[in-house]
Amino acid sequence: MIHRLDPETRSKIAAGEVVARPASVVVELIENALDAGAETVETDVDGDGTDRIRVADDGHGMAEADAALAVERHTTSKLAAADDLETVETLGFRGEALPSIAAAAARLELTTNDGGPRGTRVVVDGGENAPGGERDKTVSPAGRARGTTVDVTGLFADRPARRKSLASSKAEFARVSAVVTRYALTRPDVRFVLRHDGRETLATPGTGRFADALLAVYGRDAASHASTFDAAREVEAAGETATVDVDGALCHPEVTRSRRDHVHVSVNGRALAEPRLRRAVADGYGTLLPDGREPVGVVRVRLPPAWVDHNVHPAKDEVGFRDADAVAEAVEASVRDALSTADLRRSGEVAMDLDSSLAPVEAASVFDDLRVIGRFRGLYLLCEADDELLVVDQHAAHERINYERLREAVESAGIDSAAVDPPATVSLSPADAALLDANRDLVEKLGFRVVEFGEGGGTGTYRVEAVPAPLGRPFAPDALADVVADVAAGDDADPRDELLKDLACHPSIKAGDDLTDDEAARLVERLGSCGTPYTCPHGRPTVLAIDEETFVRGFGRRSGRLG
Ligand code: ADP
Ligand code: MG
Repeated sequence: MIHRLDPETRSKIAAGEVVARPASVVVELIENALDAGAETVETDVDGDGTDRIRVADDGHGMAEADAALAVERHTTSKLAAADDLETVETLGFRGEALPSIAAAAARLELTTNDGGPRGTRVVVDGGENAPGGERDKTVSPAGRARGTTVDVTGLFADRPARRKSLASSKAEFARVSAVVTRYALTRPDVRFVLRHDGRETLATPGTGRFADALLAVYGRDAASHASTFDAAREVEAAGETATVDVDGALCHPEVTRSRRDHVHVSVNGRALAEPRLRRAVADGYGTLLPDGREPVGVVRVRLPPAWVDHNVHPAKDEVGFRDADAVAEAVEASVRDALSTADLRRSGEVAMDLDSSLAPVEAASVFDDLRVIGRFRGLYLLCEADDELLVVDQHAAHERINYERLREAVESAGIDSAAVDPPATVSLSPADAALLDANRDLVEKLGFRVVEFGEGGGTGTYRVEAVPAPLGRPFAPDALADVVADVAAGDDADPRDELLKDLACHPSIKAGDDLTDDEAARLVERLGSCGTPYTCPHGRPTVLAIDEETFVRGFGRRSGRLG
């Protein structure tokens, strides 16, 4: 039941402009649809959004009396009294969105049905003769299945200053697209459709699976290199504790973007461009990400309503937290844990299919129960595994991991590349230049974008605009010369595979010697997930094992620990 908020509650609600641009209208209408329990939310935008925005849902709809009230100021079904502001669980609560939108637009038409035989249409029409003035409201019966459609035309028609402040049609639609995407990814259980000028630009299936929503937004490569996670952490503030639930899906570190916009967060169901939480997610990736690259992922945070204040910002862009640092810390730790375990093993499983011939059957089990207990000379990791001491050659292990992941990347969609800005200039010998020409497809598939200076070529000087960034580490542009030289030096074996082996050993993508404990543990775990963990790509061993028996004999003991 919709009712009018009392003056006390109204005075506590953050005042200000709700409708700043077309994207803010879309946010409000989508949030209303989600509050109504919609399973499908379809958004249509014409031009920059001032021409038309229409959002249709299949939620619970409204009865006639409620529909007529909904477009009035301070009317809401979601908040009864001022105290409820502390505990509100719906996305809306101010009762201001629909009237504000109606006031900012030439016309707002709301068609709704709460499941009865007949629906209701409410039209708030300013008309050209009433600029900024009184608006007519008409209520009439209408045919519609259960749900609600809000159709807003002529946004800012009588607010020329506001219209002027808008960016280009493309830029305004990009903002709309960003907010729809954010909701589509954080609510994979809801089917979202977005159309621009009648053309579908986004459609998620609403299956509830993050992978399906990621697939719709970012494509197969990102979706297949993502892992879901679900964690709970205790936070403390002013002597009280609360549980923060964090779940979502994280793309593996080989899938990166140059901006942080692709970290999608929500807090208690509200999708937000929350910079602190986005940073916390990126921090959780830590050194897995190359410099200047940002992760792709979906992270949903839930905490008791009283620990969050959604009422700090009129357009609800930001939220207040009882302890923002503690929440950020919980998010960062959840992401870090999630990345250190399941997801990286999964890429190994794929690699195993590609090279089953060499995978020792009993080998993988050695890595199952393995613990890094120390390091020797910055080169070797000492690991305890059942009754053996394993010595892992850090570099050889890293080469093996790189090689398998590179090969997997090339088999599927190609290796991620990173732009070189400004582009670097690299000279190749004529022979190498010829080899580059001959292997151009492969070199580009590996992630290089290279343009030769001078018309018609033949200068031997190249502009390197992008470099491979496999496993999140961009190559130095000079590596172009190395890679081409490697092709030249390659014997008659599959030149592509030779190249991958050389790439895997290239210093640009090798880890430094000073691994932290976490990095060491992750390295060994990733080695264990390789199809062929026991040798580096060039066939040298990655692991030596010394069994307990050796120590027993060496120390002249009669038996092992249990004896
Ligand atoms: P608020 O969301 O803050 O309550 P709004 O102005 O956005 O305020 O909406 C006013 C009321 O109209 C809501 O409380 C809700 O009861 C009703 N309403 C708005 N949109 C929908 C919708 N899509 N489906 C069902 N009810 C809706
Ligand atoms: Mg609302």
